[in-house]
Amino acid sequence: MKKIEQILIGTHNKGKIKEICYLLNKKIKKITPLELQIKSPSETGKSFKANSELKAKYFFNKSKIITLSDDSGLCIDCLNNQPGIYSARWAKKYGNFNQAGKKILDLIKKKNRNKKIKNVKAKFICSLSFCYKNNKIITAEGIIEGKISDRPKGKNGFGYDPIFIPKGTKKTFGQMSKKKKMLMDHRFLAFKKMKKKINIL
Ligand code: IMP
Repeated sequence: MKKIEQILIGTHNKGKIKEICYLLNKKIKKITPLELQIKSPSETGKSFKANSELKAKYFFNKSKIITLSDDSGLCIDCLNNQPGIYSARWAKKYGNFNQAGKKILDLIKKKNRNKKIKNVKAKFICSLSFCYKNNKIITAEGIIEGKISDRPKGKNGFGYDPIFIPKGTKKTFGQMSKKKKMLMDHRFLAFKKMKKKINIL
């Protein structure tokens, strides 16, 4: 594939935009849907992959600019992998991410009541899709395993960062430096796989 000069970061989520811009080659001009006044499509897919592909194709067709889109979310073991693809929608439903985080902590407590060994296992999943000429699409997935904290901790990051502790660490994403989080999370892992498939990013 030929070198690319510009790319559309197909999302309106500021946290994701920051992370994806940080990972992309400095020489590539980054454009956002906000600058082009393109709204987000409805996420009608039933999987992270279906939704990231749907978004990448949608933004590519609207802008005709090569697009990189992400669909991601938090999957909690004892809650049947909820909120999963509905992670953003839970924040809307409960008011904001703080409220959704509290709801998750309550639900986990209820599930684990009377259990000797508490199951607080969780993972973040990210599906990244790259859409270029005539709707051609390449997708890669990244998963980071971890657990849910007993309470929200830290003010860094975005979304569910204050309640997620990645495996091998003691801090939540919200307590880590932004750089440390960005270089280990599900988006980074998906991006690394994507770079192996197309080495122009
Ligand atoms: P969507 O991909 O637009 O459906 O939104 C996914 C939602 O999952 C985001 O709005 C965040 O709430 C959450 N999420 C995805 N990635 C992260 C992350 O790296 N940190 C915290 N929350 C995240």
